[in-house]
Amino acid sequence: MDRTQGFYDEHETESEALRANRQWQALRAVVSRAASFNGEFRERLGAASIVPDEIRSLEDFTSIPVLRKKDLSRLQREKGLSWFLSCAPGELSRIYQSPGPIYDPEGRAPDYWGWAQAFYAAGFRAGDLVQMTFSYHLTPAGLMLEEPLRALGCAVIPAGPGNTAVQLQLMEELPVTGFVGMTSFLKTLGEKAVEKGLDPKRDFGLRVAMVAAERLPESLRKEVQDMFGMVIRQGYGTADVGCIAYECMALGGMHLAERCFVEICDPATGRPVPAGEMGEVVVTPFTLDYPLVRLATGDLSRLSEAPCACGRTAPKLMGILGRVDDTAKVRGQFIYPSQVAQAMHGFPQILRHQVVVGNAGGKDSLVLRIETNGPVDTAAVAAAFQDTAKLRPAVTVLGLGETIPEGSPALVDERTYE
Ligand SMILES: [Zn+2]
Repeated sequence: MDRTQGFYDEHETESEALRANRQWQALRAVVSRAASFNGEFRERLGAASIVPDEIRSLEDFTSIPVLRKKDLSRLQREKGLSWFLSCAPGELSRIYQSPGPIYDPEGRAPDYWGWAQAFYAAGFRAGDLVQMTFSYHLTPAGLMLEEPLRALGCAVIPAGPGNTAVQLQLMEELPVTGFVGMTSFLKTLGEKAVEKGLDPKRDFGLRVAMVAAERLPESLRKEVQDMFGMVIRQGYGTADVGCIAYECMALGGMHLAERCFVEICDPATGRPVPAGEMGEVVVTPFTLDYPLVRLATGDLSRLSEAPCACGRTAPKLMGILGRVDDTAKVRGQFIYPSQVAQAMHGFPQILRHQVVVGNAGGKDSLVLRIETNGPVDTAAVAAAFQDTAKLRPAVTVLGLGETIPEGSPALVDERTYE
């Protein structure tokens, strides 16, 4: 069985022009359906004085105000779930509830959440026996990821989370080849197996894993892959919209899924940023029962258009690089803690750093506090900061005995507005 070759559907290798045309047709269908009933989208358009018939180009589309994920929960409660639906609730397939709480309606279309191509790219194939360790209770994760596996021709053990003893028993007694869940949990299972005197590589038949829901450092991926002798690939999605992007065998980012339209936007304006720049992930899934036009996820990323060795032509999301809530706009420029951390990598003497934004006297100030274990060229530090974050900070070196406590926020916004 070759797990590394092939594609799940023909869209994965289509040309840029074909993809742009297909996505535009799909967006038009979503906009027209979402505007066809008196609900969330029509009210949003009305508030921005946009007439649905006047959305005739992608430029028009990207000027529609975004729907913020944090407003979704409040609006669902104030207006009721039906205000968002283009069908009757009983015409759906399922309704989940995820933390917020937010209700996540699932339509009846096959592979509704669009994860099948992600599993294929991760190396899952017909005939795999897959242990599903995401929850099946209320939240969509378990069922959302089980259905595409069955569509691929795999069998699924609905193990759910926790219960490590039973999880290990399943892997020992059944010919389990696939795992779905969190990498940290898979690592725990491997460690428990070793404690029991087992060798996860020799005594289990695991070959592929699809992981999600937590950050995956390359060191952790390598450690767990080596422990089990398997391939681990991650997917990125949300409970509201399903699959947004996924890794292929070539790694180096996550290909955008073909079943949605993804934009990287300025968190303040909701308008797309120039190609390659960092911004907020804004998604419009091509699903019609629960249209979410331009849902702003709160996640930060950037896109790469570099060609991929796997042959897929979709651009790649370069990881989730933080949350919008952890950024601050200073003098018209967003400061992203992950970019600052990257700039600090070049200075091994810097043990910890913290960005402090203030506005004493009504003017924005930007201070980079650093805790060091040796002399450091503060002008070089300020220049490295400016290279990535565009603004030049005042650099303060903490004195002897002063410290930035472990777990302190990377960015503190002390500005007040009266
Ligand atoms: Zn690829």
